[in-house]
Amino acid sequence: MNKALVLLLAGLPLPGATTAVASSSVKIELRTERGVKIVEMPLERYVTAAIAGESSVFRSGEALKAMAIAARTYAVRMHGRHRAEGFDLCDTTHCQRLDVEAVTPRLVSAAADTAGELLWFEGSPAFTPYTRDCGGQAEDASAVWPDLGVPYLTRHSDEYCPRARTSAWQWSGDPRKILEALQRSRLRGPHVLDRIEISDRTSSGRAHQLLLAGNGESVRISAGSFRFAMGRELGWNTLRGDRYEVRSSNGRILFEGSGSGHGVGLCQLGAEQMGLTGKSYRQILAYYYPGTLVGLTGRELSWQRLAGDAITMLTTQPEQDRVALATAERLAKRITERTKWPVPANVEIRVYPDLDTFRNATGEPGWVAAHTEGRRIHLQPASLLRRKGALESTLSHELMHVALEEEAAQSRAALPLWFREGLVNYLVSGQGNGVARIPSDSEFRQTADVAKAHRAYGDATANVVNLVHRYGEPALLDWVRRGLPAEVTNASTSQAVTKSK
Ligand SMILES: [Zn+2]
Ligand SMILES: [Zn+2]
Ligand SMILES: [Zn+2]
Repeated sequence: MNKALVLLLAGLPLPGATTAVASSSVKIELRTERGVKIVEMPLERYVTAAIAGESSVFRSGEALKAMAIAARTYAVRMHGRHRAEGFDLCDTTHCQRLDVEAVTPRLVSAAADTAGELLWFEGSPAFTPYTRDCGGQAEDASAVWPDLGVPYLTRHSDEYCPRARTSAWQWSGDPRKILEALQRSRLRGPHVLDRIEISDRTSSGRAHQLLLAGNGESVRISAGSFRFAMGRELGWNTLRGDRYEVRSSNGRILFEGSGSGHGVGLCQLGAEQMGLTGKSYRQILAYYYPGTLVGLTGRELSWQRLAGDAITMLTTQPEQDRVALATAERLAKRITERTKWPVPANVEIRVYPDLDTFRNATGEPGWVAAHTEGRRIHLQPASLLRRKGALESTLSHELMHVALEEEAAQSRAALPLWFREGLVNYLVSGQGNGVARIPSDSEFRQTADVAKAHRAYGDATANVVNLVHRYGEPALLDWVRRGLPAEVTNASTSQAVTKSK
């Protein structure tokens, strides 16, 4: 697979593009085998880890996309809820469960296909909880979050999840274990537990308040707190949700229920069924969050597809960006004429409507004009680049990368990053002069220091120009297919590409 992820600094750093904008990354408290650490990751990487953690078993691609949008919107809306503890979101079901290890290309593309898209309600990101399986009856948000007051999370029957399979479950709990679990969760229970009754139900029929009784003593407890205590202490497969009946049986407490999770918002089992019957991710989201809108910004912009001869452009402003597409096609032809590398047929250029959405989608700082993954080019707003005189150079640079990476992938030649960046820059700008320093990969990959990145690109280009003087351009183009000759590799690993006259 050709997924050379290259960080691209096209042309010059863009002055003025670095002003503070909405946060494009999330600080996560990650639990690993080696303990707890706080890591910062771009929002889109967070989204892939969240769908890996919460819905990796989905078969429907549309349901996965719906989940990506729900997870992304949830993260944006809840961003900073753990700020007092020094991070934004935790990696458990309290926020969203993350599984960084389980990210697959399929999940990455579900996130990428909807990059930057959020669910909006009245100009703000919506509150988008989701649930494993509502058991055929979605819950009203007020049953779980009494003060929330949003009109798009209401009780309704779900015609889709019952098509999947029976979601009935049972759990029979040992009364002493139940009391111990309550105690460990610092919840009060009776001294002896003989029976549990549902003393109050939500409008969808779920348990809301429980009465725990034994030896003439009885204690009221919210069904939600009870379920969390059981889940935490005895395992999440005990009480899967609040939709159940409960009775005493042979000295144990027997819960018989259906569905799992709180039942509010998107029902994952139902979403999967909708996707499998041909519904789109927009239809899925509209079904579970009625009244909200999918869009890249609060202005409800959404991607529209412009098809060129060889390149497809996704943009929110097709009228305005048609010219940029024509430019890109012209540049692609020129690249092929010069290098003889074909620009592949299904290149996609995504033009973001503003800097915020570009940064959110790519995790790049504002001074990076574009970001290419495989055949997909993410581009800052074309109008912004044009104003800075950087549109053509950026498009050339990125298209050149796509062509070069395809060519290199044909033969699996291992090309160092400095060579790829330097060659692209040389072919696009033809400039660069003698330095003997070979920049390391990390200098290209870091996003904190614009001067350092600029130096790395300059040095890489200078090295390539030296090689062109020495071996000629055709030789270098050939190396893309065959790999660097040993003498160059050796020289570069010892940090000294010979300077030529
Ligand atoms: Zn580059
Ligand atoms: Zn949390
Ligand atoms: Zn459902």
